[in-house]
Amino acid sequence: MSISASPPPSTSGADGGHSTVTDRLVAANARYAAEFTDPGMDARPVLKVAVVACMDARIDLHAALGLELGDCHTIRNAGGVVTDDIIRSLTISQRALGTRSVVLIHHTGCGLLNLTEDFRHEIEEEVGQRPPWAVEAFRDLDQDVRQSMQRVRTSPFLLHKDDVRGFVFDVTTGLLREIDPRS
Ligand SMILES: [Zn+2]
Repeated sequence: MSISASPPPSTSGADGGHSTVTDRLVAANARYAAEFTDPGMDARPVLKVAVVACMDARIDLHAALGLELGDCHTIRNAGGVVTDDIIRSLTISQRALGTRSVVLIHHTGCGLLNLTEDFRHEIEEEVGQRPPWAVEAFRDLDQDVRQSMQRVRTSPFLLHKDDVRGFVFDVTTGLLREIDPRS
């Protein structure tokens, strides 16, 4: 994998012209805003819950969990791994914005299952600098969910650690499977 200064990928627009994917998103936003009415919501999530999940494109968190706009915080990264930055977001979520529950979601077919910490070494060889972050690759989904639950439960910065539950989302069935933190 190399990092080069190539132009953004273009797609053929309906008008036959070329636009980038971001152009397409901006156009979609103009249509969205045209229909938008201010919901008049507070920033504090209605259900007082923060969902930490993988960034995977196949997981529609709101649809999968029956969530509506304003219900929750969604905090996503590669793997849904509880890193220091996830703890930062959870701390703000709980202390400044009133959430009390944490839901952790990993999933089948995660890209991190195919990576190892060698990924960092390969990057280091390519760019001459080792990334300061761990890849957080994992082989055992259930065990990684347990580790993530443990990181939340042992964080000194969080106020609410009694309702922390972890799940694996099956991308082929859409079903969540709960992980027992004690097994
Ligand atoms: Zn993933």
